Amino acid sequence: MAFSPNLAIRRLYSDVSKKVRSQKYVLTKYFQGEPKKSDFKIVEEELPELKDGEILTEAEYLSVDPYMRAYMIAYKLPTDMIGGQVAKVIESKNKNIPVGTYVCGSFGWRTHTITSGQVNNTFDLPITVLPDLSPYPVSLALGLLGMPGNTAYFGLKEICQPKQGETIVITGAAGAVGSHVGQIGKILGCRVVGFAGTDAKCEYLEKELGFDRAFNYKTCNIRAALKDGAPNRVDCYFDNVGGEISSTIMSYMNKYGRIAVCGSISSYNDTTPPKVTIVQPAIVFKELKMEGFVVNRWTDRWQEGIDMNLKWLKEGKLKYHEKVYHGFDNMVDALVGILRGENTGKAVVKVK
Ligand code: NDP
Repeated sequence: MAFSPNLAIRRLYSDVSKKVRSQKYVLTKYFQGEPKKSDFKIVEEELPELKDGEILTEAEYLSVDPYMRAYMIAYKLPTDMIGGQVAKVIESKNKNIPVGTYVCGSFGWRTHTITSGQVNNTFDLPITVLPDLSPYPVSLALGLLGMPGNTAYFGLKEICQPKQGETIVITGAAGAVGSHVGQIGKILGCRVVGFAGTDAKCEYLEKELGFDRAFNYKTCNIRAALKDGAPNRVDCYFDNVGGEISSTIMSYMNKYGRIAVCGSISSYNDTTPPKVTIVQPAIVFKELKMEGFVVNRWTDRWQEGIDMNLKWLKEGKLKYHEKVYHGFDNMVDALVGILRGENTGKAVVKVK
């Protein structure tokens, strides 16, 4: 249930009566290459008493996502670090959201939040009040049942529009979005081929998630892998990484193929953008359709994606894996970890 399309995090307070103290990460230097702890400072602030309609939340799981590496350049420094979190309501002056409820919101890298439901940023997604997810962990609201899950659901269905029997290729295939895209592809009756960065990830994709084939892009010949894994060539390409591998895959597509450009993580840490093989000849002669998207496009259908993914999860058609980091102090290590490929599935940080 969405409780409001708008979100505001009230940042600085002076009331000393409650003495709830929040910690937050403030970015003080733009990233150069990999993010570093010294790019941030952790700041403590005291929160005031709640006003009518507000809730006070305590973070349980914070999300680390590749967009955090890519987006911070758009902010004027110093700035509070952005990001989603699952938090428990520990005080409430909102009769619809009692104490003990779990919410998911774009509160940033902080331990405690007071929210009144106003948007302060176009990247923010609606706050959602979580239903009882047991026996599943509430952290799924940051992954399969949240932003990455909706990225997979809407990105594949709306942009690629796969038909039964078609072949879908996915890069970044063992990550939060990619592993989910492949499973939806199988639900829709497609042949699914993934590229991921270790043999263990590829084995997981084939043996656990039911991908037809998975290849280690660090050790294989991409063209040979495509010939082997996609004998009928490629109808849909879900691009999470960009770079040369994407040019190669696009040159191996069928006429009228569709490409969903979701991200380009292969270059997020680069200081100069890579030069890759031209893609226009393949796009013209195969009459391909290539479309970028940001998942916020479907904010008005947000619950549809979550409901469908939850249904598939309960039916045993979707599986998930989480890489759980521990401790608020380890946020930067976790962010660097996903950029280095430490995670299979969704990476989250358990705050305590
Ligand atoms: P992941 O869980 O996939 O984590 C990142 C993964 O990227 C790593 O595990 C690593 O896996 C892979 N990776 C890192 N460096 C490279 C590289 N040089 N080349 C290829 N793969 C690399 O993250 P998400 O699933 O959350 O995100 C996947 C993509 O989707 C990202 O590009 C992200 O920005 C984008 N995204 C876009 C959204 C949108 O609205 N458009 C929303 C959400 C995500 P490996 O071991 O396989 O290298």
